[in-house]
Amino acid sequence: MKRIYMDHAATTYVDREVVQAMLPYFTEHFGNASSLHSFGREAKAALERSRGVVAKALGASPEEIYFTSGGTESDNTAIKGVMYANRNKNHLITSSIEHHAVLETCGYLQERGIDVTLLPVDKQGLVSLNHLEDAITEETGLVTIMHANNEIGTIEPLKEIGRITRENDIYLHTDAVQSFGKIPTNVDDLNVDLLSISGHKIYGPKGVGVLYVRDGVEIEPLLLGGGHERRMRSGTENVAGIVGLAKAVEISQREMKKESERLIRLRDRLIERVLEIDDSWLNGHPTQRLPNNANFGFGRVEGESLILRLDAKGVAASTGSACSSGSGAPSHVLTSIGLTTEQASGSLRLTLGKCNTEEDIDYVLGVLPEVVSDLRRISAI
Ligand SMILES: *Cc1c(COP(=O)(O)O)cnc(C)c1O
Repeated sequence: MKRIYMDHAATTYVDREVVQAMLPYFTEHFGNASSLHSFGREAKAALERSRGVVAKALGASPEEIYFTSGGTESDNTAIKGVMYANRNKNHLITSSIEHHAVLETCGYLQERGIDVTLLPVDKQGLVSLNHLEDAITEETGLVTIMHANNEIGTIEPLKEIGRITRENDIYLHTDAVQSFGKIPTNVDDLNVDLLSISGHKIYGPKGVGVLYVRDGVEIEPLLLGGGHERRMRSGTENVAGIVGLAKAVEISQREMKKESERLIRLRDRLIERVLEIDDSWLNGHPTQRLPNNANFGFGRVEGESLILRLDAKGVAASTGSACSSGSGAPSHVLTSIGLTTEQASGSLRLTLGKCNTEEDIDYVLGVLPEVVSDLRRISAI
């Protein structure tokens, strides 16, 4: 059976070119980047080349790039690290639709005495600048707002958010895990001070990520030990992973413009045709959204059944409904944009990627209406 992967927001395959770039760093160039001998120096050189590639893609300098174990660690380090280093500030601001890596970290700090403001979003998932301005106090040390949402694809007005945080002398962190490689993420254009990236969302390996920290930002490390990454992240560097991530970054920058245009065409055709299904709607913003994200709601349909039916037809998709996340609660993103529990339960996220073609879209458009009406028939009985 034909298998179609449309869950690129969950993870991507690793690009062949990336695998090729990584391989020598498992075998002949296996050195520890801290060692003084030639094996170590080879690893160190690869590490610093990789840092340069990532810095260039972000419009940053290499000294502002730290390699981590992924998006989750980057988010944790940014938020805890800044709040721990700036103890005179006791307030942080985030949004209600952040990834769990951000929300759980903010919740952890809240339990330990830090005031946390969760900004609401509108029906399309946008944070309001007025709400942000109203939330800022003398105590605010950090604002953390994602660049683009992983479930509904909404792109937040970071540049304008950054203008506000600048004026108020507050650090701004953004989780750019979903946006990096799909839309421009120059740190100066976005007015951000800290930014998180993950390797496995951009056709790179799992277990490796980046935290950008603007020069001069007061931040503490989470991991202590041998003082790697200029004392910001101890632990022997994952050289092969970092080389792979840098290769994935390089490819994404080379292909971004063309690939994003292609994805937007596929996405818009998918959206237009899926919305012809009775009692269906689009979750997220109609235009301010990631090139590869389509998130639909279907009335009288249970998301998990939908995913399983689609999987049986070879289509890998995702839902924000109750059980798929294992939490027993509907997606916090979908309820934040005003959906009822029932509406949120009938959601379908299709996230496109480099391997998806026009034919894949046709195939999904061919099977989806029938799957939806089948499920509605069953639920009516
Ligand atoms: C996947 C994801 C993360 C977590 O990244 P990992 O590398 O899997 O830890 C964080 N934020 C967003 C928005 C994501 O999509």
